[in-house]
Amino acid sequence: MELILEKLIPIVGSKGWKTPNIKNAKYVHDITNFKNGKPSIILLPKSTQEVIKIMQICNDFCWPVSVQGGMTGLVQGSVPFHNEVILSLERMNSISNFDRVSQSATVETGVTLEKFQKFLEEKGFFFPLDLGSKGSCFLGGNLATNAGGTRVIKYGMMRDLTLGIEVVLADGTLISNLNNLVKDNSGYDLKQIFIGSEGTLGVITKATLKFYHEPRTQNVAFCGVDSLDELLNLLISCKKELGSDLSAFEVLWKSTYEFIISSTSIKAPLPTKYNYYVLIETLGNKPAIDDKWFSEMLSKFLSKKIIKDAIISSSQKDIKNLWNVRNNTSTAFKTIPLRMNFDISVNLNLIQKFVAQLEKEILAFKEVKDILFFGHLGDNNLHAVVVCHELKEKIKKIFYKIVGEYNGSISAEHGIGLEKKAYLHLSRSKQEIKLMKDLKGRFDPQNILNRNRIFNSDLGYQKGLIKNNTNDELKEKFRPEFLSYLAK
Ligand SMILES: Cc1cc2nc3c(=O)[nH]c(=O)nc-3n(C[C@H](O)[C@H](O)[C@H](O)COP(=O)(O)OP(=O)(O)OC[C@H]3O[C@@H](n4cnc5c(N)ncnc54)[C@H](O)[C@@H]3O)c2cc1C
Repeated sequence: MELILEKLIPIVGSKGWKTPNIKNAKYVHDITNFKNGKPSIILLPKSTQEVIKIMQICNDFCWPVSVQGGMTGLVQGSVPFHNEVILSLERMNSISNFDRVSQSATVETGVTLEKFQKFLEEKGFFFPLDLGSKGSCFLGGNLATNAGGTRVIKYGMMRDLTLGIEVVLADGTLISNLNNLVKDNSGYDLKQIFIGSEGTLGVITKATLKFYHEPRTQNVAFCGVDSLDELLNLLISCKKELGSDLSAFEVLWKSTYEFIISSTSIKAPLPTKYNYYVLIETLGNKPAIDDKWFSEMLSKFLSKKIIKDAIISSSQKDIKNLWNVRNNTSTAFKTIPLRMNFDISVNLNLIQKFVAQLEKEILAFKEVKDILFFGHLGDNNLHAVVVCHELKEKIKKIFYKIVGEYNGSISAEHGIGLEKKAYLHLSRSKQEIKLMKDLKGRFDPQNILNRNRIFNSDLGYQKGLIKNNTNDELKEKFRPEFLSYLAK
């Protein structure tokens, strides 16, 4: 191992590496404190050129690399295994090529989401991706996980906000296309292969992202409805009447709403007598019309009994208070000592039956106390928190089995990482998984990048890789260590 470290350290210089000791524990475990083993070194490159050199050396040594952003991921994808080299993008954090005509800018992928949002705000522009983790997560992590959040219904996910990308492949090859063209049908759209690939196909070093003018109007309503049918009817009505201004449709089940109100200091905007609560938001550009139109539509929904009750914002303070109810889900859930979190997608036409079956099968476990549902329902995304006396893999298994039976996705936003890989087959066919593995084999034949995340790669294409290594001196020194690593 010393030999590879001797080669890597000069690439990044004295400020560009750390030892994985107690002081640097944040690189070793994720926000849930999950950890896998002791990595060999933490590398903090400052430029794409340094990333290229690191990957060339690691590839030469067939040494596994764990790619890290802000470590806020929820599926253990960036948690290093024993002996892996950690490659953190945190020192690559510049923003360039701000272009107000094309409405795009190029970022290094260690920029936090919040820094990019603020950079644009100061210039009167707006980046719509918004996550509870925005202060810590990096744009690289957002790209690698194709992050979603609360405004997907209007602006799409991270892949919809990306115009160009720069990636370093496992062997150090640079794939760079940072153009800001909206239309570019010159062959395959390669950036989309890397977005959402969770660091398994390449290290994303830069991206050209698109942004929007700051919306001039923002309206929020918090509504109560009594059935899932009413809820879906409300979604249809919002899409029809509010059109492309509709920017959020966030739902809380009654028990979730009650739980948030009782476990935080938030004041309940509506009484707890309805079965579902919906936060509706519009973002628009017509100050003279939008506010009036929004309240007229809400009054219409009330008079037509599409909703039972509603409170409508009349100030920025109201908007903040109403969003606070939704945004405090994580804070409230932290008070539950034992819980299992699920982030899934399901066809909304099936949601009633789906939730009923989940409740029947999951609540039948004596270890389960309750299920708290909420989610970005406007884009099919349901979150569920299973409150337990005891954590059981069997509960997860049954939960995902039901998701599979309803042709849902076991991961709407967070990705697969290590956490969900045993269940990937419930959302993806054998042929799809084979193609994913083939792609992995093509992009990273030695299987060094985020090894065994998303799926276990067959060791098949690792056989003979030592034999094929051209550098005899490195091969001999490195061989015993690598073989013992593979044997684990
Ligand atoms: C409070 C809270 C709220 C959240 N809300 C949302 C939400 O609404 N929607 C949502 O989608 N997610 C949400 N998340 C999850 C998480 O914040 C996102 O997945 C985020 O995109 C991860 O970014 P990160 O920089 O922390 O990545 P990390 O956790 O460091 O890494 C995530 C994955 O991306 C890979 N990766 C990171 N950087 C790169 C790179 N430059 N190149 C290649 N691969 C890379 C890693 O190897 C890993 O597999 C939330 C998390 C928290 C804690």
